[in-house]
Amino acid sequence: MKPELELYIHIPFCEKKCNYCDFLSFRTDPAIHGTYISQLIKELTGMSAICGGYTVSSVFVGGGTPSILQAEYIEAVLDAVRRNYDLSEYAEITIECNPGSIMRHKLAAYKNAGVNRRSIGLQSADNAELKLLGRVHSFEDFLKTYQAARMEGFHNINVDLIDCFPMQSMNTWRKTLRTVLMLKPEHVSVYNLIIEPGTPFYEMQKEGVLMMPSEEEQEEIDSYTKSYMKRSGYIRYEFSNWCRPGFECRHNYGYWTGVPYLGFGLGASSFFSGYRWKNTDRIEDYLGIDLENDPEAFAERLRTDITKLSREEKMEEFMYLGLRCTEGVSAMNFLGRFGLSINAVFGVPIEKNIGLGLIEHEGDRYRLTERGIDVSNQVLSEFLLH
Ligand code: SF4
Repeated sequence: MKPELELYIHIPFCEKKCNYCDFLSFRTDPAIHGTYISQLIKELTGMSAICGGYTVSSVFVGGGTPSILQAEYIEAVLDAVRRNYDLSEYAEITIECNPGSIMRHKLAAYKNAGVNRRSIGLQSADNAELKLLGRVHSFEDFLKTYQAARMEGFHNINVDLIDCFPMQSMNTWRKTLRTVLMLKPEHVSVYNLIIEPGTPFYEMQKEGVLMMPSEEEQEEIDSYTKSYMKRSGYIRYEFSNWCRPGFECRHNYGYWTGVPYLGFGLGASSFFSGYRWKNTDRIEDYLGIDLENDPEAFAERLRTDITKLSREEKMEEFMYLGLRCTEGVSAMNFLGRFGLSINAVFGVPIEKNIGLGLIEHEGDRYRLTERGIDVSNQVLSEFLLH
């Protein structure tokens, strides 16, 4: 059996920038979409030469707002994947969509192209909060998108939510969570808002006009999320990710458990053959590189920040990413991968955090406790070897 490989395809276009967003995404003239897609297809085709020994187990088309594109472009990209890679018949194929940018004919086209998972960015079920976040859609737009996806036969839907953002109250969060869970999505991601430099929220915070929920309110929101999700039958399999049994996002799970991945498109990151790299994040550079006639262009002009991971860095990542998952890390896997016992390398932070009640040990596995998840930044930083 060939080893697994995951593909990430980045579509950096959005209708408008949200007030909190620092992702690599921007509004652009739709005339550029076709050029971008044809460059993406060249990149996918060219890179396939090194992937013959792998089976692609997941494809994630993310952004930005992939659903802003004409459906034919998504079909062409997935067709290029099929023609050039050994795509497993069981592969998870996800597309991110924003309410309002999706119409029924696009859903049918995605389905025909093999997409079997939809991820919808809602963020809040309260229209005033959506406006504050700078989203371009209403909750009613989301409902239409969600119901259309169900009618089109999508049985694996994720809904993205944000909590702990400015002016959010316990009441509106309760309403958001209850309204969304009534729809019974298979997967829900809940991210705490982080105010990033360069965003409108960052400027508003500097001016003192943003009222963030207090620490107590944030704790109340977190604890309500945990108990309401559990009561509703959702499993927390990673810090920010909840699902109904059997609907973990395989693509993300692969990231956290060391499956190699190749990223295509502007600014996309890759981890392959022990190397990490990132594509250029300058659109003029990405579109200007001759990927068809210049085989060296991939490594020399398209990629930046190329790093070969040392053995220590691989061990750190094993712990750092694995402990994000609630099933934790396996001591046997560690031994198999690195030829050393987990305790020989990380015995000190493991014992210390077990003593503090932040890590628990059961059978072959070490995992963060609920208290450990609450202070995960502090715990995970202790697994850095240099
Ligand atoms: S839709 Fe998503 S990627 Fe686009 S600006 Fe908003 S948060 Fe950023």
